[in-house]
Amino acid sequence: MERIPVFAPYIGVDTLKHLTDALDVGWLGMGATTKDFEERIQTFLETDRIVVATNTGTSALHIALLAAGLQPGDEVIVPSFDYVADHQAIRLAGGVPVMCDIRDDNLGIDVEKAASLVTDRTRAIIPLHFAGIPCDQAGVYALANKHGLRVIEDAMHGFGTRIDGRRIGSYGDICTYSFDPVKIVTSIDGGCVVLKSEQEAEHLQRMRFLGVNKETSLRYKNKRAWDYDVHCDGFRYHLTNIMASVGVSQIKRAEEFISTRQAVCRAYSNAFRTLDGVRVPATDFTDVSPFIYSLRVLDGRREALIAHMDACGIDVGIHFIPVHKHTHFANCRRSDMSVTDKVVEEVLTLPLHSRMAPEAVERVIDGVTSFFGASAAVPAYSRRTAAV
Ligand SMILES: *Cc1c(COP(=O)(O)O)cnc(C)c1O
Repeated sequence: MERIPVFAPYIGVDTLKHLTDALDVGWLGMGATTKDFEERIQTFLETDRIVVATNTGTSALHIALLAAGLQPGDEVIVPSFDYVADHQAIRLAGGVPVMCDIRDDNLGIDVEKAASLVTDRTRAIIPLHFAGIPCDQAGVYALANKHGLRVIEDAMHGFGTRIDGRRIGSYGDICTYSFDPVKIVTSIDGGCVVLKSEQEAEHLQRMRFLGVNKETSLRYKNKRAWDYDVHCDGFRYHLTNIMASVGVSQIKRAEEFISTRQAVCRAYSNAFRTLDGVRVPATDFTDVSPFIYSLRVLDGRREALIAHMDACGIDVGIHFIPVHKHTHFANCRRSDMSVTDKVVEEVLTLPLHSRMAPEAVERVIDGVTSFFGASAAVPAYSRRTAAV
């Protein structure tokens, strides 16, 4: 039997067509397709805010912190239960990551514990919307307003997630997304910053291209400036036309990818909700764009379930090893980590794909339910609900 991977990026003929068309144009670097992708991201997010595409989500975080005015030695509060990209980006920007615990319900930052970490060196906070499920965003902004902190949202798990009807990134301070190989929408590698300030956006556009002052407007017409000036530090963080062409092909299908993922997540939750020994995510996924499905396995049985799933030919993942457990970040100042330390023993990421075969969904459900000695209590995930 074929193994079921945790992630399975979907690259169809439409993506190949966009890619070969972009190669035919012959302008391989940043250009008109980059602009097209940025405009489509803006439309998708239902916002008139400025979108600055970058070559990775990590680089988006790095220059977002710089654009927000981070100074060397400034502290940035960030969950430890997160991908290490955020902490590396803070260090790259000269900042000091200060790690915070999470809440047991949404696995997002615990704002009360974050409040206890604020000092007069604190400059920003990076909340993560884990698994695409909103964190306590209102609490984060209330804390930030109280202390004059910048908020750089990491919405990389939830491209399209809505809070009170509005897509994350369409309001608030600064938001970052990733389009890396396994994210809901991929541009092979890529990312973006979404923000309101024109001045900060211009700074971002320069920083992503070696600090050059004139790259953006001409390049958006597949042209380059021969006379230019440099006013700031800069990096090679721009997104090329070729990568953007993949992103364009994918974002055209984002709604379809998201609704398939939502249907799979609902099928999982319906099948697992009644099992003793697991906790399903606290959402019905209506407004959630899920990058991963994260199940909580209780009573110390996760490793046994992993072995059982392996024997069933199903790959699973663990998101995340908390960053304060990594050697390089072990000495960071941090809050009490009681929830993080407990949750990290429980979380298990099940396979979730943008076009997932109904048979694969059923096999994952059977894998989990058979471990707990139950057969699936709900009707099998039907071909019709999958609608792929
Ligand atoms: C994917 C991801 C990143 C980094 O994005 P890249 O595009 O891979 O650099 C950062 N944080 C989280 C939570 C992510 O999932």
